Formats: sequence, C-alpha cells, structure tokens
Amino acid sequence: MIKSYVTGFPRIGEKRELKRSLEGLWGKKEGFSQDSLSQTAKTLRARHWEYQKNANIDVISSNDFSLYDIMLDTIFMLGCVPFRFRGLSGNELYFSMARGNNSAVAMEMTKWFNTNYHYIVPELHKGTEFNLNSQKVISEYNEAKAQGIKTKINLVGPITFLALAKTTDDSCAFCHLDEVVAKYAELLEQISKLDDEIIVQFDEPIFVTDRGDELADKIVPVYEKLTSVANNVKIVFMTYFEHALKAVNEVVKTKIYGIGLDFVYGVKNLDALEILAKSNVVLFAGVVDGRNVWKSDIDKKVEFVKEIEKRLGGKDFYVGSSCSLLHVPFTLKYEEKINPEVKSWLSFAVEKLSEISIITALANNKPLCEVATKIYNDNKASANSRANSTLIHDKAVAERVNALVKFQRDLSFDERIKIQHKTLNYGILPTTTIGSFPQTTELRVLRQNFKKGEIDESTYNDGIKKYIDDCVKFQEECGLDVLVHGEPERNDMVEYFGEQIKGYAFSENGWVQSYGSRCVKPPLLFGDVSRPKPMTVDWISYAQSRTDKIMKGMLTGPVTILNWSFVRDDKPRAEIAKQLALCINDEISDLQDAGIKIVQVDEAAFKEGYPLRAENIPSYEKFAVDCFKLSVSSARPETQIHTHMCYSEFNDIIKTIEAMDADVISIETARSGNELLKIFKSVGYKQEVGPGVYDIHSPRVPSVDELVTQIKALLEVLPKEQLWINPDCGLKTRKWEEVKPSLVNMTQAVKIVRNS
Ligand code: GLN
Ligand code: ZN
Repeated sequence: MIKSYVTGFPRIGEKRELKRSLEGLWGKKEGFSQDSLSQTAKTLRARHWEYQKNANIDVISSNDFSLYDIMLDTIFMLGCVPFRFRGLSGNELYFSMARGNNSAVAMEMTKWFNTNYHYIVPELHKGTEFNLNSQKVISEYNEAKAQGIKTKINLVGPITFLALAKTTDDSCAFCHLDEVVAKYAELLEQISKLDDEIIVQFDEPIFVTDRGDELADKIVPVYEKLTSVANNVKIVFMTYFEHALKAVNEVVKTKIYGIGLDFVYGVKNLDALEILAKSNVVLFAGVVDGRNVWKSDIDKKVEFVKEIEKRLGGKDFYVGSSCSLLHVPFTLKYEEKINPEVKSWLSFAVEKLSEISIITALANNKPLCEVATKIYNDNKASANSRANSTLIHDKAVAERVNALVKFQRDLSFDERIKIQHKTLNYGILPTTTIGSFPQTTELRVLRQNFKKGEIDESTYNDGIKKYIDDCVKFQEECGLDVLVHGEPERNDMVEYFGEQIKGYAFSENGWVQSYGSRCVKPPLLFGDVSRPKPMTVDWISYAQSRTDKIMKGMLTGPVTILNWSFVRDDKPRAEIAKQLALCINDEISDLQDAGIKIVQVDEAAFKEGYPLRAENIPSYEKFAVDCFKLSVSSARPETQIHTHMCYSEFNDIIKTIEAMDADVISIETARSGNELLKIFKSVGYKQEVGPGVYDIHSPRVPSVDELVTQIKALLEVLPKEQLWINPDCGLKTRKWEEVKPSLVNMTQAVKIVRNS
C-alpha cells in the first residue's frame, strides 16, 4: 500500500495575508496588533490544513508554519538567543532577532541551500546555553488535531541546525551537539504524550551536500538517542534538493522509521532503493516537483512510482512532494490574465496536492472520484498540449540553435583591448556606474499608470526621457567617463526582458516567500524563446543622443535570466540557455549597429545556479560560461563588453570568471576592502576590473578622503591600467540625495589619485 504525504506547505497565504499582517504590525498601522497577527496565522494554518485534507493527503504537516522563518523558530525553540537580545521575550524577541531593534542588529540571513528562500543563521559561541520552548510545536499540533487532522510534526534536524550555524568565537558549533540533542529528546518526550502514535519529520537537508557527507558519522549516535526516547514517536529523516546516498547508508543502521528522498533533483537516490528494500526504514519518495510550477505528467509519475514499488520488493512506502511546497506559489485560483493555454500547463502548491493524491491512488490501482477524474483527464490533455503546442515549440528557434556555428567572439582579449583603447580612448582609472539610478516614486507611478492604460504612450515616453535627460546631465556634471541611461523604464532586471521575449508568461499572484514577509514573483519561461524586436535600443540610443560621452548599453545576461525564472522542465537547461543567449546576442548586435560602443551584460545571479554537490560543478560552469560567451559573440572586437556580478568572493570561481572573457567586470568588493581582490592578481587575471569603491547598500555618503584611501588600496593589488572605478552595485534602491554627493566624491577622489 502506498500513502501520500506533503513535506511542508507554504505559509505566507494565497493572498499574502501573512505579509500584510506582519507589515501592518511592524509599521504600527491602525487595526494591526499582536492579536490580529495571531488571528491571521491561525486562519492561514486552518486553511492550509483544509486544502491538504480535501485533497486526501494522508500525511499532513504541522509546525511547517512560521511567522518569519523555520530556522528562527528553531533558535527560539532551543532558546539559544544571542546575548544582545537578552531581556526580551515572545514576539518582541522573535522579531528583534529577525529584524534588529534600536539597540541590537538583526541576526544574519542567508540562502537556504540552492533556493531563493533565506533563513536566519543561528549564532552560537562556546558559552551558548539552550532552553527548550516547545510551546509552538505542541500548540500547532493540537490546533490541527482539533480540526480533525493528526499531523506529522516538522522540525529542523539537529545536525542540519548546527551545520548551518555560525559561531562568534572560534568554537565549533558541533561542540553543542549533545546538549542540542538532549533538548530535542526532551521535546520528543513531550510530543509522545500528545497522541498514541505520532510522526515527527526531522529535516536534515545538509545531507544532500558534500559537507553533509563529512557529517554522516553523526547520524547514528544522534538518531539512536532520538529514536530511543519514545516508542510511539516515528521519526522521518527528511532530505531534499539532491541525493543523500551516504546518509541512507547510516539511516538504515538506526531505528529511524522513514527516510525522505528527492527523486526529482536527486536522481541518484534511485541507487538507495536496493538498500531500502532490505531494511526496515520506510521510504518517503519525493516525486512531485516542489520547486517548479509545471504540472506533473501523472501517467509518467505513476509509472515511476510503480517502478519504485517494484524495486522496493513490494514494501509499503509514501509518495509526496520533492521538498516543501514553500518554494512554489500558492494557487492558480486567482490567475485571470495569463494565457489560458499556458495556465493549463501550470500547477502551484494547491494544485500539486491533487497531483500527489491522484498519483498515489492510481499507483494503488484505486478508482478516482469524480473530481479527481476530471483533474486526471485535464492532466493528460495538458501533457498532450505541452508536447505539441505552437506556443511552446517554435521551429525557427530550434533550427537556429541547431545551425549555430559561432560560439564566441572573434579575437582574443589581448587583441580586442588594444583596439578598444584606441577607439574608446579612455585614460587611467575610468569611472562609471553599474546601470540603474534612483527609482523614484514618480517613476514607479509613471510606469504603473502606463501599464494600467491611464496615461498614453507619449506622456509615458516624455516622463522616461525627462528622467534620462536629468540622469545624463548629472553624470556629465560630475565628470563620469562612461555614462548610463539609469534604467527608468525597468521594474526588475529580469522581468523587463521577460516581458519582451516570446516564450515568457507572467502570473499575477505567483508569489514565493524570499525572506520574512518578502516575496518574489519569478517570470515563467514556458516555451522556446526568441526576441521579436529590439528590447533596449530605443532608450539607449535616445540616451546616447543626449551626450558626446560614451553611453553604456545595459542588458541582463542569460544565466541570470535563467536563474531568476521558473524554467520549463521539458527541455534541457543548456538548450534553453542557448535560446536566451541568442536573444541577448541579437540585442548586442542591434545596439552596436545603433552606434553603442560599450554594452554591459549583467550576470547578477551567476553564482545562484551553482549545484549543491561538487561533482556537478564542472558541468554547470561549462554551461554558464558557454552561454555567456554565446550571448556576447555578436560583439565586434571594438565593442567593449562589460559584465557585473553582485559578489565579492571569487576565490572558488575565478577561472570560470576569466573564461567568460568579458572585457571588463565590475564586482562588489566595497565591504571587503582589497583583500578579496587579491585572487584576481594571484591567478594573473588579465581583463579589466571595476571593484566597487563604495557600498551602495547603505545610505551613507562616502567622503573624498575615504574614497581616495579605498582607490589607493585597490592600486596596491592591481595596476592602474587594469582598474575601473565604480560603486559596488546599481543605485536604484538609493535616493538622489545620497547618490549625487557620493558620485561627486567618487570622481573627485579619482582626480586626486590620477594627479598624485
Ligand atoms: N544594471 C543593474 C542595476 O544597476 C544591475 C543590478 C544588479 O547588480 N543586481 O540595477
Ligand atoms: Zn550588483
């Protein structure tokens, strides 16, 4: 017999109710209070359980809900509160740790594995004390029970918790392992009293990483303790995002009840089936993609599940989502504008619930009810339409990709740069910016009004032109060498291009939690992509017409577009990337034909796509480099290609960055001084580099003196012939009052250094 489960469910609310409630409380808006927040949270939990129950999911979670973040909940639960928050309690403590308060800075936040979800990093030191606070865990369980649902309780596992912690002294987080495990044991003891039998899911995703492999010897001792607390608690060791083969070998040595494996992103997990067939550990098979938005092909999934069943020798097991559904949007219910055919291919969290239960029923050879039958029939129709739709399959695009012969620029960097120095004629320490200038309220209103049809095109164009004019005028006044148009027409660096590329769609309500109350709405790349017409040439040409200085064209790179979109799963990523690269390639061609001499191709999210396991890194790097090179291969030798990356740490990837072969790269070194720049020197990096000289993430205006010192520090590492001077990222989140004096000081500082 096969049963269904869901790893975890999103919590922000299908209309982002939690976001509103949180931000209302934080902003002290009228009508918002701790009580209204608790009420919203309660309503959402009840609704989310109801959805899962209605979809006939057998194993539904509690404690997957969070007011901010599950790691923060765990910090709170274990009582390991950093010293600076002592004296606070309840939600005041909880939100202070997340967001800081008047006297204490917030705790660090970072990305959860290879997702765009951010968690709060536990902050430990040698003397950290732990005190169990089980209130949330227990009360959520009871809440669901009162609703008639016996849930599995989700917890972050102790090994993953400590592996992701940082320490503020030089101690090792794992020196706390025994104590932390003791707290978890205490918790399990309490949990065991809640019901006759309870499943507790310990999320241990660290074991899908290479680091996890090194920690594998901790599994047996830790889980031997936890499994011996109470006989009626069944522990599930949950992993996701990649294979966890090494952990499987350890888990089967323990009394752990079940292990969760991801069969969508960890295909190698198939090798675990043989081991599991011989063991008492029950499989929780993640087969429905929890990280992407397309419908599962139910027939294929059923076949796959039956294959698992066979390989397990007919043992009972569970079928569910590949990871928490937190990483996909809520529901298609409110999507009214999207093309109905594209919509018919999509499946968000709520829709995935039905997929899971239908796959389970069919794999059990059970008949489907009327509603499920309709969903199943629609699913078959959609698989068919996806395979054949002309919206997806564009012959011309496929033919062009197949016929490609030119994959990179004609001349080598050494040859190109000589030509460029002659034609572009810039002196030492050329100054520029990263592209965007402040996004003012007027600008946002202007774009929104145009989108809503409230103003006509010429009014909109006049508004944008006025912004560009002001922007150019200011840059000329402060004496920057290479100008930008300021990106006033862009809401978001990926969305702007997505909207103009054929093969992209946009949801109205496809929000995914990024951190705390913040959500992102990634565009949907559903089909073969191509560029029907130029995307940026008009605005860049206009900007160039307003100045005799060099105007830099501004594009988003193919790797970044890919990494920040929901991407179709019916074609290899490398091929989709080639299609995107060709869109950018065409745009560069048109820009240079229009007289633009420098084009920047931003790869802000280049690192985001790095795989979790080292064994997959070489293929990602090859794919990313090939893709970038293809995108700029249309640039003539005299056209200078810049790229920008929002990172400062290049030690591991410097060879890859070099292989991308951009003429100039600007990076985010401002906060790390010249230390991290040394890698460029030590590998003999030849191309030009613009290490950010000040931090744009803070409103602070850097003084001339400070900037002089910073530039001199850079000159200690790289020769003046190789350096560009610029801020460390785009200026769109800053105010004009901050940007203007900062850039004036920057150009001043450069003058001083040039003359010294
Ligand atoms: N050109 C973009 C900008 O200036 C780059 C953004 C980024 O680095 N994230 O906004
Ligand atoms: Zn940046």
